[in-house]
Amino acid sequence: MVSIAARQSDLSKRLRAALGPDVTILDDPSQLECYSYDASFEAMMSPRYPEVVVQAQSTADVSRVLEFASEHRIPVTPRGAATGQAGGALPARGGILIDLSRMNRVLELDAANLQVFVQPGIVHADLNAFLARSNLIFPPDPGSSRMCTVGGMVANNSRGMRGVKYGPTGDYVLGLEVVLPTGKIITTGSIGSRALQSSSGFELTRLFVGSEGMLGVITQMRLRVIPKPPCRAIVMAQFGRLEATGESVSAVLGAGILPSAIEILDASAIKAVNLYRPALKVPDADAILLYEVDGNAASVADDARRIAEIVAPLAEKVEWSDEPPRVAALWEARSVVGAASGQIKPGYARVYAGEDICVPLTRVPETLRSIQNIARQYDLTVVTYGHIASGNLHPAPIIDVADPDQVRRVRQFADDIHRLALRMSGTVTGEHGVGLTRIAYMRDEHGPALDVMWQIKRALDPYNIMNPGKMFPADIAEPPGGRT
Ligand SMILES: Cc1cc2nc3c(=O)[nH]c(=O)nc-3n(C[C@H](O)[C@H](O)[C@H](O)COP(=O)(O)OP(=O)(O)OC[C@H]3O[C@@H](n4cnc5c(N)ncnc54)[C@H](O)[C@@H]3O)c2cc1C
Repeated sequence: MVSIAARQSDLSKRLRAALGPDVTILDDPSQLECYSYDASFEAMMSPRYPEVVVQAQSTADVSRVLEFASEHRIPVTPRGAATGQAGGALPARGGILIDLSRMNRVLELDAANLQVFVQPGIVHADLNAFLARSNLIFPPDPGSSRMCTVGGMVANNSRGMRGVKYGPTGDYVLGLEVVLPTGKIITTGSIGSRALQSSSGFELTRLFVGSEGMLGVITQMRLRVIPKPPCRAIVMAQFGRLEATGESVSAVLGAGILPSAIEILDASAIKAVNLYRPALKVPDADAILLYEVDGNAASVADDARRIAEIVAPLAEKVEWSDEPPRVAALWEARSVVGAASGQIKPGYARVYAGEDICVPLTRVPETLRSIQNIARQYDLTVVTYGHIASGNLHPAPIIDVADPDQVRRVRQFADDIHRLALRMSGTVTGEHGVGLTRIAYMRDEHGPALDVMWQIKRALDPYNIMNPGKMFPADIAEPPGGRT
């Protein structure tokens, strides 16, 4: 019987021999500790340790790691910034973790052709700061913008607040360089292409978008960028009736206005924000909605005014502004709600469990009520906010993670929330992905389509070395076997 420590030191020795002295390989337990988590509740309760970490600097590094791993049947987990909330970057089966955060360069901006070539480890906010100098923007906008990598966004097909107008990350991916589990390097979206669209061949780019590091490692991306909207305005409306929130969204969209964001804070979220930042004085209500519109100054002011008029008969109070300081003040309630929810009970933490369901717009009010009923059933404090225009809700349970009974109750809460989403004709994850935490719902959500996903996985990754232990339940996923 070989001990884990002996296996680990043997693996790092062999990997060092295969990769040479220029590639940074970490195997000290204190270093591995730093790679044993992401932002998920799963990681908080049960960190997963890699046996070795490779800090990749180039596509060639990644390719050599995967060639080695494939030959010896060793599990490999790609990792961006580990802000994922579903355990996707946790090395569930040990093995090698590839840290891509050092591959963080902009390779080329082709502004005239509205595209940028980047490495996967670039942080989202850094990319947009770079693009802003040319009046351009990469529109998907996750709340983790200042931390997450764009490679992680592509792998998770992230969305965020501006998804209602700009869609998911995948809509901006023109092509990818991917290292397959065998180490082979491919380019999707046509080699050397700078075209903004193509109907040539199967859409392999789409296959890798949202594949959560289970089909290969993304090492380069060709991304579509757009002109940066110069102005924005915010409309804030407070509602005394939850149903009126959904009605107001339908009325605004029905009037032909497409806001860049429509965010909801329910009563629990309003309370959390007021406790966290009393100076904001967010009005007590069943819910508030924040509509953001962007574009040129005249159209923004016109859209905001029209939204306020449309929403007024349904709301208790409506206010709008296109003055930057007031816009920032109105938006602040939304920007702080994530942090606020973690602060409302001293000594407690906000955990990411059942945090990302997505339901049809018409069922948002019913779902919000059910979330609070389920919270009451398990005697938990839960703050809920989200991207209402797409029905994406983020319930945030607040618990003492040192109390096993609360941990047990929050797990039951998350299970009920996921099942609620499916009952509401929704999905268990609107933007955070499946990872480790939502495997149990995949069969119910996808039926026989899940088997097709597994067949695709097997076709590209016959030894199941790419990020194994995620997405697929044990009845179809085979363990990575035959390690040499
Ligand atoms: C405070 C906070 C707010 C958030 N807000 C949002 C939000 O508004 N919208 C949203 O969609 N998400 C949000 N998230 C979730 C998370 O930030 C996103 O999913 C993000 O895209 C993950 O990027 P990452 O670099 O941290 O990826 P990681 O967590 O490191 O990895 C995520 C997954 O991608 C895989 N992966 C990473 N890089 C690669 C690569 N180069 N090739 C192949 N696979 C790879 C990993 O194996 C893993 O499965 C939020 C998270 C936090 C902590």
